[in-house]
Amino acid sequence: MNSNLFAAVPTTLRANAPPASFHVLAKPTGATCNLDCKYCFFLSKEMLYPGSRFRMADDLLEQYIKQVIEGQRVPEIVVAWQGGEPTMMGLDFFERSIAYEKKYLPPGKTILNTIQTNGTLLDDEWCEFFRAHNFLVGLSLDGPRAMHDAYRVDKGGAPTFDKVMRAAHLLQTHNVDFNILCTIHAANADHPLEVYRFFRDELKTNYIQFIPIVERVTPELLEVANEGWGDSHHTRALYTLDGSLVTDRSVKPEQWGDFLSAIFDEWVRRDVGTVFVQMFDAALASWVGVPPSLCIFGETCGNALALEHNGDLYSCDHFVEPRFKLGNIRQDLMIELVASDQQRAFGNAKRDTLPKYCRECVVRFACHGECPRNRFISSPDGEPGLNYLCAGYKKFFTHIDHPMKVMTDLLKQNRYADEVMEILNQEEKDRLTRAGRNDPCPCGSGKKFKHCHGRTV
Ligand code: SF4
Ligand code: SF4
Repeated sequence: MNSNLFAAVPTTLRANAPPASFHVLAKPTGATCNLDCKYCFFLSKEMLYPGSRFRMADDLLEQYIKQVIEGQRVPEIVVAWQGGEPTMMGLDFFERSIAYEKKYLPPGKTILNTIQTNGTLLDDEWCEFFRAHNFLVGLSLDGPRAMHDAYRVDKGGAPTFDKVMRAAHLLQTHNVDFNILCTIHAANADHPLEVYRFFRDELKTNYIQFIPIVERVTPELLEVANEGWGDSHHTRALYTLDGSLVTDRSVKPEQWGDFLSAIFDEWVRRDVGTVFVQMFDAALASWVGVPPSLCIFGETCGNALALEHNGDLYSCDHFVEPRFKLGNIRQDLMIELVASDQQRAFGNAKRDTLPKYCRECVVRFACHGECPRNRFISSPDGEPGLNYLCAGYKKFFTHIDHPMKVMTDLLKQNRYADEVMEILNQEEKDRLTRAGRNDPCPCGSGKKFKHCHGRTV
């Protein structure tokens, strides 16, 4: 990792004023999972707890629910489960969790339960439970069959697409709210519209998150890492945020920018208000001037932590490494760990170590250098700490500037952002009407107008 980035993080814990709210991703099975997705570096985190059964004990579950409720001063508390694969705990674990929520939730407050799952263990009983308790389910699906099955395989290396699609249909049948979490990698990054239209038109889902796969490695680990991180590989290695190489599966910076831009262009012309893409919502928040819902685009971070199955609390889900462990909630109050100097310094380091290249960047207000986990390259002037995906973000945020400004103006006038679709379509028609036969086509194809849209106008 960039050696500057966390140099300021102290090793002692001193309490600051605690934040009103924070977000914890709890991992009741640790890194244990029933699948063996090749890009899932989190599988390797099992190595942090040799000999563990990787099951959150009942007394710890109660402690956690109590602390997560009592530590926050907001009307809605989020209880978020993740893995590994959290459904491997069995339904009774989550039933107990709901019972503890009822025990500790004070009047006037509500709880939103969320769970991120690969879906392969879901059945009617699970879905009835999710519906009964208003869970928001995140389902991991990487697009159409071939793109999903490229890396999302089970322990025997078998594809999982059919099982995940079955889970999606079960969730729909039971009216469970779910969103798709789609990771972008070498197998799907060149097919943005195919991926997007598959979710929108075939799966008929309206909530989509895209996450770039960036698996950072050292030269020594590159070969092993290219095989995958799961236990079906003989030579396992612990994934840590070191090195400045990436695996073959990782998305390339410009590819990521092009992927997002292509989907945005389709979305902003026909799907605003009906399809919700988390990345686009977060960008709109930045243009409007309110804090984005995604920590990666915040100026600082540090309010999104990870809880391991044994009560160890880490600075972030992406920093589950010994050097980023804050303590254990059996011994220390979670809120004190969240407010500790160590954690505040972790969050502020995001802003305080931003290279000059970012500080002077025209889209900094929307990007803020993205997530520190990806900041392992140097800027053109040689300063370390630039984001590996920088070229992609710069391209994407520049590309969406005009439609974002149109939506921002609409919202400021108390109008609906979806009016942007009509405005952009009209602008395009006007440009086509004005274009001369030998002008470059306004659609951006690079062809002359007369050989492109001019043929039909
Ligand atoms: S390190 Fe990255 S993922 Fe973690 S809280 Fe900060 S921005 Fe978010
Ligand atoms: S686009 Fe690049 S230079 Fe601009 S803030 Fe993001 S990472 Fe920094």
